[in-house]
Amino acid sequence: MNILLIGSGGREHALAWAISASPLCDTLYCAPGNPGIGEVARIVDLDVKDHSAVARFCQDNAIGLVVVGPEGPLVAGLSDDLRQARIKVFGPSKFAAQLEGSKGFTKDMCARYDIPTAAYGRFADQAAALAYLDRQGAPIVVKADGLAAGKGVTVAMTINEARAAIEDIFSGKFGGPECVIEEFLEGEEASFFVLTDGIHALPLTTAQDHKRVGDGDVGPNTGGMGAYSPAPCMTDQLCAEALERIVKPTIRALSDMGHPYVGVLYAGLILTKSGPKLIEYNARFGDPETQVLMPRLKDDIVTLMLACTDGTLDKMSVRWLPKSALTVVMCARGYPGEPLKGTEIRGLQAAAASEGVEIFHAGTALRDDKLVANGGRVLNVTALGGTVKDAQQRAYTAVDRIDWRQGFCRRDIGWRAVSTMAKLSP
Ligand code: AMP
Repeated sequence: MNILLIGSGGREHALAWAISASPLCDTLYCAPGNPGIGEVARIVDLDVKDHSAVARFCQDNAIGLVVVGPEGPLVAGLSDDLRQARIKVFGPSKFAAQLEGSKGFTKDMCARYDIPTAAYGRFADQAAALAYLDRQGAPIVVKADGLAAGKGVTVAMTINEARAAIEDIFSGKFGGPECVIEEFLEGEEASFFVLTDGIHALPLTTAQDHKRVGDGDVGPNTGGMGAYSPAPCMTDQLCAEALERIVKPTIRALSDMGHPYVGVLYAGLILTKSGPKLIEYNARFGDPETQVLMPRLKDDIVTLMLACTDGTLDKMSVRWLPKSALTVVMCARGYPGEPLKGTEIRGLQAAAASEGVEIFHAGTALRDDKLVANGGRVLNVTALGGTVKDAQQRAYTAVDRIDWRQGFCRRDIGWRAVSTMAKLSP
């Protein structure tokens, strides 16, 4: 079968790496792709915003499955348009992708289906939002409603901070002027991934990421500076609880609404004293979490994705290597502000030569046969290990072999898991 993958980040390189190894995959195409993906897939010059052009490409190239990596094309309805052209797609419809695209939609669904999440108010009017804030007090969380690339959320410790965040939202800084104000929840955060065909749920595994740019989880938020899987705090019991109380009711809700969700549901959870609560849904795999999921996956990703599109997920199971995987994101100097572009990166082959190490590209480009930085997050250096500490050491050994003076990374990815595991071992 020929497969088309949409996207160009580290997540898509990890997916391309896994998909291209599938016995079911004849030719893997990717648009827009990146140089790393180009090593395992044919890069195609396709405007993914032009849905009819994507459908035409699929028909012309006998594409049997389209895998949509990022949220943008899902929220823009690419899956709907391809399905209408009778093309199989792994990824939810525009309606179902509101789980990620609209915080208000998700909060209203949680309220209706009794899904554990933070108490909230939803406002289209600044005065009403400010009045609600005054009644609730701080700490409190203010969120812009809509895709804001992780930048629309303010965890406000003071009323003044919260007030400024509300004013920003209603000044149109994040697009549409609508906001959600949420109860502040305390607990460790973890990501839980579940495949669904719209009816059945197949839990995958767990991960944790590091959003802040600096060591010790300080500084501005980023798209993610590193991740590891599994998350030691997500015990089997907590996974079962999250599946039964959060994810399954969500799948039922979307099905009841007449828009069954097909794809991967990524639940961002906070483990509170009264159990796991939903902070947010993503309608796709995580980035950089996918870079630690794919190396641990023992089964064929394409078989699993087809079971989602074909409604046969109840017949599937999934196995994982009993190892930890950890990825360190290397960024161009300046990120998360304006990243320095065009600087040369050397030494990738040597760095990737160790067993269990994979380097997934994100913002890279080829210029005159040289690999250069072409974005903020540039490389994902991933390693498998018997323990999370072992994976961490292997990943940093590989990082240190890369010759890129204008790049940087955090040096403490995995610190929480390493310390949790140290406490658990005798
Ligand atoms: P979101 O984009 O909704 O995932 O929010 C981004 C980050 O803000 C999360 O990863 C949490 O660290 C934090 N956050 C969001 N909602 C809450 C909440 N209700 N209580 C505490 N922290 C939150």
